Amino acid sequence: MSGCSDGSCSGPDRLPPGMLSKYDLDLPTADGTLVWLEVIRGPEPRFEASSLEILDKARSICEGRVFGAVFGDKELKPLYDIAFSYGVDTLYHVKDKRLVQFHPEAYCDAIAELSARIAPAAILMGATPRGRELAPRLAAALGAGLTADCTDLSADGRRILMTRPAFGGNLVATIACNGFPQMATVRPGAFPMPRADVGRKGTVIYRRYLGSAFKNIVSSEPVEAESVDISKAKILVSLGNGIRDRATVDLAESVASKLGGAVSCSRALVDRGWLPQSRQVGQSGRIVSPDLYLAFGISGSVQHKAGMSGSKRIVAVNKDPDAPIKESADVFIIGDAHSVLKELDERLDSN
Ligand SMILES: Cc1cc2nc3c(=O)[nH]c(=O)nc-3n(C[C@H](O)[C@H](O)[C@H](O)COP(=O)(O)OP(=O)(O)OC[C@H]3O[C@@H](n4cnc5c(N)ncnc54)[C@H](O)[C@@H]3O)c2cc1C
Repeated sequence: MSGCSDGSCSGPDRLPPGMLSKYDLDLPTADGTLVWLEVIRGPEPRFEASSLEILDKARSICEGRVFGAVFGDKELKPLYDIAFSYGVDTLYHVKDKRLVQFHPEAYCDAIAELSARIAPAAILMGATPRGRELAPRLAAALGAGLTADCTDLSADGRRILMTRPAFGGNLVATIACNGFPQMATVRPGAFPMPRADVGRKGTVIYRRYLGSAFKNIVSSEPVEAESVDISKAKILVSLGNGIRDRATVDLAESVASKLGGAVSCSRALVDRGWLPQSRQVGQSGRIVSPDLYLAFGISGSVQHKAGMSGSKRIVAVNKDPDAPIKESADVFIIGDAHSVLKELDERLDSN
């Protein structure tokens, strides 16, 4: 071990024993966690659920303050208390009418500027379509390491341990960055929706956006929002490649509505164009944790199981007695998916 008689005790090998894992990152000033709070616009703006899930996680695992960053104008005022109640200590409101609309370049500029000012140890955001667009841009601007689409986060001091599926879902990797800020996007639904600590107080700091990274938006077309959020459903009727007839999707919708649930699927049905991507369960789809997961004609690939293994009860219907999903199922029915669904639909009618 080298000495530090020259007074430059900067190497990690010169830190007192036990402090190595906490302080071997090279920016001693970096502290706290900055979370980009995504706002869903509408008559009453609200936070994207994943932003609140991340806030609660940051609060419970990370050292230091929790900073929030929001973009928009005065319509965001009612959201201040909500941000504090979910864990924000200091909320940076980048106040600019032009930023009501999502401008990835300008948001990136502004968060990079905030990061230089507050030097957070970590920057987190939801792996939503917007988060996925913003995070890599920001990581490049900051020269930071980014772990995308995490399914879990933990911390060892200021070091964040970021967990995500790797190699097509065959491995679960835990990744750590070797510098600040550490960046991660987190898959929506990866953490439970926290309870608000109503009345919790924090500080709002207004920032002006002085950059000019705006795109000239020539036209925009609203995309119809998906009315069903499978990550919140208590009962899911899930369909896979074993479904051969499109009418089975209607049958599943009927069963789901009678049970007060929703229809989800494996990637196979999204690839066929029978159901939208928002209904896909799995590694590259949604993580779901219903009370009851009814799987019809789904084999149980690792990628699919990555999204549904948190279900409380799993009932699988498959014509192959050795389908891999059998291992995860509480009840395994050998049979034809369409016929079992039809019978279930009729029985629910007669009840
Ligand atoms: C990087 C990557 C990410 C991926 N992400 C996802 C993801 O997020 N979600 C996902 O689902 N997949 C994902 N996949 C695809 C995944 O590998 C599988 O291909 C997919 O899950 C298979 O879907 P399935 O079980 O519906 O189809 P199959 O594997 O083809 O299984 C169909 C099942 O239906 C049964 N069957 C056939 N006919 C009937 C019948 N009449 N009645 C009852 N059962 C019947 C068969 O016995 C079989 O078990 C991903 C793949 C990769 C490489």
